[in-house]
Amino acid sequence: MTNQQNVVVLDVISCGVRNVLPPPSLPVAKSLSPQDIKMLLMKKFETEKGGTKINAWLDSMRASSPTRIRSTTASLPETDDRSSWIVHHPSALSMFEQIVAASRGKQIVMFLDYDGTLSPIVEDPDRAFMPKEMRATVKDVARYFPTAIVTGRCRDKVYSFVKLAGLYYAGSHGMDIKGPSKSCKYKKGNQGVLFQAASEFLPMIDEVYRALAEKTKSIPGTRVENNKFCVSVHFRCVDEKSWVALAEQVRSVLNEYPKLKLTQGRKVLEIRPTIKWDKGRALEFLLEALGYANSNDVLPVYIGDDRSDEDAFKVLRERRQGFGILVSKLPKETNASYSLQEPAEARLLT
Ligand SMILES: [Mg+2]
Repeated sequence: MTNQQNVVVLDVISCGVRNVLPPPSLPVAKSLSPQDIKMLLMKKFETEKGGTKINAWLDSMRASSPTRIRSTTASLPETDDRSSWIVHHPSALSMFEQIVAASRGKQIVMFLDYDGTLSPIVEDPDRAFMPKEMRATVKDVARYFPTAIVTGRCRDKVYSFVKLAGLYYAGSHGMDIKGPSKSCKYKKGNQGVLFQAASEFLPMIDEVYRALAEKTKSIPGTRVENNKFCVSVHFRCVDEKSWVALAEQVRSVLNEYPKLKLTQGRKVLEIRPTIKWDKGRALEFLLEALGYANSNDVLPVYIGDDRSDEDAFKVLRERRQGFGILVSKLPKETNASYSLQEPAEARLLT
């Protein structure tokens, strides 16, 4: 990874997890931590699509503003904050021996998010290329363990970045799953699996994509990405002064589609079907497809960096099986067991 890429990752990982002021309408107890406040904001953001207050959207968008972080972190005891967090979410690198010990006699199954985990976060989502060293590492991992890429991206798009035939790919937040395109040695599972959890939404998503692209084209820096079963509106390159206009345009489109919901990732608004399917469900589906639905002989390991990965971390925690590993430089509310600071560390671990 280049120095420039490192800077980008550092900048982006500065997701607003601290000192985010709640809107006046939120009943927040004084004892809530900045992380609690952020979670409340996010919950409000996700559940109030109909009749949404634009202010709540903006609060959530600002919560992921690096500019805001820089201006508010000076008074925070960041070192102490991270130290206590790392106690509860130790570096996966330092826990490597424990992970190996836990895997004895079990089949490891690897689940890997893409953006911010295998690739650095970059301004242009079409250029989130995977370093060749990372590709070689993932290829090696897949030689030994069933390996799945689980991403919010369109499955075909992420395949064009990863370019490895021996993997499972779960695109559109797990709503579009396909097995390895060539034969692999894991005979126990169903390699040809193809599952689409929201096929009936395809025409609607396409329509919403076109509407959003049209409505937001006057807002410089906006990137609307059709991820097949979901749509991403990237605002990483949009001036903060235009966020109100952007939120209003997105809301005006979403109001016409009650079967779609809005969630937020790192500098991206995501429009998804309201069905109960997410990266956690995709993880469960793939374990079942591999023949490990009710098995104790499996150790799933999931590495991811974003809020959508929390659904998978939560599944592992509830199953009391395997490890969730969060890639983040800053403390975040998470269901992951361990942490890594950046994509380059994910390569070292795997
Ligand atoms: Mg990610």
